[in-house]
Amino acid sequence: MSADDEAAHRGLRELLGSYALGHLSGPDEDRLRAHLDGCAGCRAQLDELAPLAGRLGLVDPRAFGDVPVPPPTLGEDVRRAVSQARAERDADELAQRRAAAAEQRRHRWVGTLTAAAVVLVALVGGAVIGRATAPDPAQVPLEAISMDVGSDEDVTVESADLVDHTWGVELRIVALGFDAGETFRVEFRTMDGRLVPAGEFRGVGTRPMTCFLQSATMREDVTQVLVTDESGDTVLSSDL
Ligand SMILES: [Zn+2]
Repeated sequence: MSADDEAAHRGLRELLGSYALGHLSGPDEDRLRAHLDGCAGCRAQLDELAPLAGRLGLVDPRAFGDVPVPPPTLGEDVRRAVSQARAERDADELAQRRAAAAEQRRHRWVGTLTAAAVVLVALVGGAVIGRATAPDPAQVPLEAISMDVGSDEDVTVESADLVDHTWGVELRIVALGFDAGETFRVEFRTMDGRLVPAGEFRGVGTRPMTCFLQSATMREDVTQVLVTDESGDTVLSSDL
């Protein structure tokens, strides 16, 4: 359909109402009738208008007073309503975007907190498991030994015990008076006369210290415990 035809079609369509009410006559009526013959769309519209036209025919125009006039503020009212609706829609969108962002942040936090909780549970669980599985020091059978103080008479032994482990032997010693800063060596002498190292510690002077010194030597092979200073002099010894 060309633009001219389109315009003609629209113009004729505006006459449909008058035609349905039987108010059309002359060349307008002829033109419309001719158009209706070739336009199914206008014919359909006329079919919709016909029942209304029948009812309109029952309306008495004299029942109307002045021609209704839209209120002068109509344009402004419409603009305000449209503007308000748009503002509400924009606000909704903003609120939705904010809610989505907040939700995303919450998820990130939940993820972080969950990870932290997992780590915490692992730590606490590990600590509990560690506590549950580690031997209670009070439960380890200790074999008290007496240690003779050798060259350094400042040393005082509060307690010295051997622990017979499945994997070796351990000396647990609580003592004080080892020269501060000096390194002391602990050895176990075995049945065949060898000296097996059990570790070293550094003297802390008059402060009491507790040392656990270990060796792969088995308890039953140990015949002597020796603590020597840096010059090789015996500081403590215990013959078993
Ligand atoms: Zn038409």
